[in-house]
Amino acid sequence: MLTSICGINWGDEGKGRMVDLLSEKFDVVCRYQGGNNAGHTVINEKGRFILNLLPSGILREDVVNVLGCGMVIDIKHLCEEMKRLRDAGIKITPENLKISDKAIITMPYHVLQDVMEEERLTKATGKPYGSTRRGIAPVYADKYMKKAFRMGELLNPELLFKRLPDILAWKNMTVKAYGFEPVAVDKMTEYFKTYGEPLTEYITDTGIYLNEAEKAGKNIMFEAQLGALRDIDYGIVPYTSSSSTIAAYAPIGAGVPNLKLDNSVGIMKAYSSCVGEGPFTCEYFGEQAHKLRESGGEYGAATGRPRRVGPFDVVASRYGIRCQGADEIALTKLDVLDSYEEIEICTHYLLNGKVINEFPFTDVLDECKPVFEKVKGWNCDITKCRKKEDLPKEALAYIRLLEKLCDCKIKYVSVGAEREACINMYE
Ligand code: GDP
Ligand code: MG
Repeated sequence: MLTSICGINWGDEGKGRMVDLLSEKFDVVCRYQGGNNAGHTVINEKGRFILNLLPSGILREDVVNVLGCGMVIDIKHLCEEMKRLRDAGIKITPENLKISDKAIITMPYHVLQDVMEEERLTKATGKPYGSTRRGIAPVYADKYMKKAFRMGELLNPELLFKRLPDILAWKNMTVKAYGFEPVAVDKMTEYFKTYGEPLTEYITDTGIYLNEAEKAGKNIMFEAQLGALRDIDYGIVPYTSSSSTIAAYAPIGAGVPNLKLDNSVGIMKAYSSCVGEGPFTCEYFGEQAHKLRESGGEYGAATGRPRRVGPFDVVASRYGIRCQGADEIALTKLDVLDSYEEIEICTHYLLNGKVINEFPFTDVLDECKPVFEKVKGWNCDITKCRKKEDLPKEALAYIRLLEKLCDCKIKYVSVGAEREACINMYE
């Protein structure tokens, strides 16, 4: 059984915690795109963890975790993340962590390039892309330029060191154009030795491993980073990530383009949040934003940046569900709306007086005005609810309304950050 777990919105929907919960039934969890710009927060009996590169399955002893070829891996960050988890008592061995030989390495100069360009944009236009500044866009650009290093090259350092001077000569043309010091060959050689060497024992052909696992009847989960609206093709370009965050890409990015997904679970937030720049039609401001941000603890897990917030957006969510081909939804953070007497929903947009129901092209989005509808809130604590029957009728009505407006089954509802704070609506 192959299942993908993907974000329906702008990211930070609570994918990490849902993967942590649902991975109980899975043997393998794969990350298939993105890099350490991800920030998945998981809270369970072992503690509170923020995962940037490692799949959330790493917190379960019997789950095998895969970093797929669609990923970009900052090897220094990965070494540090592994150490942080090991220090917290998490076991990481080549048996439970497999890194694709085809995954791309994010280099320090990619991070530098990311920062240089965001700074240039800020100065030149006052409108940076809102990058996480972890080098993601530059490293994916190099992948498509065929100038990037792949994890498998770490297994053959002699060849890698031979390629390095020319790659740096090419990269330094850019670095110098921004007015920065060129990147030195010996520094990068040292970097590969320090952070590449310790990872070599985990590097393998994850395609072979995953095909064998599938044949043996194992349950495989693909864990996405970010949401549909941050997809490089389908999202709010250029305020997106630089990779494919959608479910259809999961088999490709994990290493098994020959396999088909059996199930796509979409993680959708009970309200909206968006970190960084870009159009966010349903955005709240002032006091309204402050209340929702504080209730939801909406500060970036990877960066600590305050997230922009707003009510549930039907137009964007329906589009996200379509992009993800979601068969079922996990609705997260419903408890964040506990203190509201009335809850707003953005049901559609208006553009020059015209009703917009389909998520439009990015440029058009800027002109769209949100239309809010109010529904009755439950205005009580639902964090202890564990069964559908425990939920107040207004909360149930809210769930049913979103289900109807989005035309997708809501199977799970989470009411707290802890692993067990979740309701299966079909049990
Ligand atoms: P991800 O990037 O999609 O994995 O999501 P993040 O971890 O960046 O953001 C989700 C945040 O909400 C984390 O701090 C979680 O601990 C927290 N969280 C997840 N589910 C719930 C929930 O049902 N209720 C509340 N109150 N917090 C939640
Ligand atoms: Mg996150």
